[in-house]
Amino acid sequence: MRTTAVVIGAGHAGLAMSRCLTDRSIDHVVLERGEVANSWKTERWDSLRLLTPNWQSRLPGYRYSGPDPDGFRTMRETIEYIERYAEVSAAPVRPNTTVIAVRRRDDGYVVITDQGEWRCRAVVLATGAFNLANVPAVASEVPSSIVTITPLQYKNPEQLPPGGVMVVGASASGTQIAEEIHRSGRPVTLAVGEHVRAPRTYRGRDIEWWMDRAGVLDELYTEVDSVERVRHGRSLQLTGSDDRRDVDLNALSGIGIKLVGRLAGIANGKALFSGSLRNLCQMADLKMNRLLDRIDQWAAETMDSGEVDPPHRFEATRVEASPPVTMDLMSGAIRTIVWATGFRPDHSWLDVDVFDRKGRIRHDGGVVESPGLYLMGLPFLRRRKSTLIDGAGDDARELSAHLAGYLEASAAERRARPVLSSAGLA
Ligand SMILES: Cc1cc2nc3c(=O)[nH]c(=O)nc-3n(C[C@H](O)[C@H](O)[C@H](O)COP(=O)(O)OP(=O)(O)OC[C@H]3O[C@@H](n4cnc5c(N)ncnc54)[C@H](O)[C@@H]3O)c2cc1C
Repeated sequence: MRTTAVVIGAGHAGLAMSRCLTDRSIDHVVLERGEVANSWKTERWDSLRLLTPNWQSRLPGYRYSGPDPDGFRTMRETIEYIERYAEVSAAPVRPNTTVIAVRRRDDGYVVITDQGEWRCRAVVLATGAFNLANVPAVASEVPSSIVTITPLQYKNPEQLPPGGVMVVGASASGTQIAEEIHRSGRPVTLAVGEHVRAPRTYRGRDIEWWMDRAGVLDELYTEVDSVERVRHGRSLQLTGSDDRRDVDLNALSGIGIKLVGRLAGIANGKALFSGSLRNLCQMADLKMNRLLDRIDQWAAETMDSGEVDPPHRFEATRVEASPPVTMDLMSGAIRTIVWATGFRPDHSWLDVDVFDRKGRIRHDGGVVESPGLYLMGLPFLRRRKSTLIDGAGDDARELSAHLAGYLEASAAERRARPVLSSAGLA
C-alpha cells in the first residue's frame, strides 16, 4: 500500500497532525494499534480528570464549546472529545494496526504493520510520550511480599491489597494517586524527589489561565537554557476537581499523608530515604514563587487594577524537623509500592539511525535527523505546552508546513535528476 505520509498514533497529537495534512491536501493515513484515544481508554486510572481546564484543549479546527469552560474533563469526557475530533476531521484512521517497524527505503520509508506494509515519503511519530513507566533500578530490591504497580497499571484503590502504601514520586500522577489511596482509608507514605509546586488558583484565576495568558506555555524550545533538562522536567503538582483543591505537599500532609525524602535505595529490606526533603521543598517553593513573580509582572503590565485579586504568596512547604530516613519494608506496614517516577516514550520499533547514546531520538523541534521523519507530542518538543492537548495545534501546524516543504523540495529534486537512457548508460 502506498500513501504520501503515514502518521503513527491516533491520540490527539496524531489527529492534530492529520487535520493539518488534510488542510494541505497531503494524502495520508493514521495507523493506530488500538482505537482512537487508546491511551486514555487503556492506560489511565478511573478517577483521573484532566488537570487542564476544558477551554484549554484547543485543537486545529476544534475547541470546547460546552457550558463549563473552567471545568475539568473526566476520562469518559476526554475520550469522547478526542473521538469527536477524529470524526469531525474525518481523520483517515486505520485502527487495530500495530506498527512493528519503520525503515528508510529509497527516498522514503516503509512502515511495517501487523496488517501489511505501507510505502510513503514522510512519517510522523505521534505514539505518545508516556508509553512506558520509568521504574528505578532499586525496584529489584523490593521484598517479594510487597505488590508493586505503576500509574499505567493503577485503576483504583480497590485493586490494591489492604494496608499501607508507599507512593514514590510527587509530581502530578504521584500526588493525585497518593491522595486517592489515602482517601480510601489506607495509610500512605509519599517519597518526595524533585518536584514542581503550583497552586490550582492564584489571584482568583486558574494557574493554567495565567500560564497561558502570560505566555509561559508558549515559550519555545529555542528560548530556554538547557532544553534537554527542561524536556525531562517534572509535571506540576495539580489535579482537576470541582472544588479546585490543591495537591501540593502542604495539602497532602494536611490530610495525613506521611512525607519522606527521595527513595535513595533499599538494603536488607529497609527503604533508605535521602535527607534532602527540606532542600527539595525549598527549591520547589522558590521556583513556584518565581512563576508567581512572572505572572504578577505580566498582570501589572497588561491588566487593570481590580481585574484580578491582589498578589500574595503561599505558605512555605511544611517539612517535619527530622523526617524518617529509613523504613522497614519487611514489617508488613507497607503492602504496596506505586512507582510514580515518570514515563518515557517507546520507539523500539523505529529502525532508523536517529537515536543518541541515551536512546533518545535526535531532532530539532520535532524535525528528526532523517529527512521526512517527524515527531509529535514529546515534552517541550517545540514549546512548553507541546505535551498538552492544547500544545499539539501549533506544533502540528509548523511541522506539517515543514513536511509539505520537504515533499515539494524532494519532488523537485527527483524531477531534476538526469534520466539515464540506455544510451547514456553505455
Ligand atoms: C496521567 C496523565 C495525565 C495527563 N493529563 C493531561 C491533562 O490534564 N491535560 C493535557 O493536556 N494533557 C495531559 N496529559 C498529557 C497528554 O495530553 C496525554 O498523555 C496524551 O494522551 C498524549 O497524546 P498523544 O497523542 O501525544 O499520545 P497518546 O494519546 O498516547 O496517543 C498515541 C497513540 O499511539 C498509539 N501507538 C503507540 N504505539 C503504536 C504502534 N507501534 N503502532 C500503532 N499505534 C501505536 C497508541 O495506542 C496511542 O493511541 C496527561 C498524561 C498522563 C500520562
